[in-house]
Amino acid sequence: VEGPRRYLIGGNWKCNGLYDENVERINVFNGAGAIPSNVDVVLCVPYIHIPMALSMLRDDIEVGAQDCGNNTGDGAFTGQIGAHQLKDIGCTWVIIGHSERREGFGMAGEPEQLCAEKCKIALEKGLKVMFAIGEKKEEREAGTTMEVCAKQLEPLAAILNEEDWANVAIAYEPVWAIGTGLTATPEMAQDTHADIRNWIKEHVSEAVANAVRIQYGGSMKGANAVDLLKQPDIDGGLIGGASLQEDFFNVIRGVP
Ligand code: PGA
Repeated sequence: VEGPRRYLIGGNWKCNGLYDENVERINVFNGAGAIPSNVDVVLCVPYIHIPMALSMLRDDIEVGAQDCGNNTGDGAFTGQIGAHQLKDIGCTWVIIGHSERREGFGMAGEPEQLCAEKCKIALEKGLKVMFAIGEKKEEREAGTTMEVCAKQLEPLAAILNEEDWANVAIAYEPVWAIGTGLTATPEMAQDTHADIRNWIKEHVSEAVANAVRIQYGGSMKGANAVDLLKQPDIDGGLIGGASLQEDFFNVIRGVP
């Protein structure tokens, strides 16, 4: 592995914003000042706002989607958006396996194997993937955090080639920290990131473990970003609520 890992800061707008509101958010970001040269920034907007973001957003922020279908091409999949279509329109990244999708918000949630398959398809179509994993509150309390993360990583490690990993980042998002204002302490996050990197070393390779970026997600914002991002195994963030605000740029500029 050459040189240090570049930071990766992702914004996840989730299902927020009418068209004009999101245009305004993009205008705010366009005027928000410089992005440090050691950071990659990607903004994952609602599907229908992707073309707008691609045409209006500053060039030094990439545009991503928050999910894609498990279809490998065109077909009779009503309501689905394919990775091939995202790539075609100009998206470069996609989030796969966000805990909200794994849970299903009242619909059928996405099982671990499906998340891994979607990731593989997205990579085959030329997208980069932020693959989200993380434990629930009761799992953290029961001391099974790494078991849960390993179960989410196992099908991924089984389906990806060594080369695929160059285009994957792992977003470690403890479910109890998402949207709750409860952030993992920097030490807690660092410990789990180190465990995840070690798991990848043992189950994929040392080279991949050294190169793969592991982002923290869960109530990350300007006020806590600096302490999280200075941890040795925290290579960025996946930001929900704060990415709807100019505070996203405090996170971006919080990198060491
Ligand atoms: P949050 O969401 O920053 O609002 O906690 C993070 C995420 O779900 O990706």
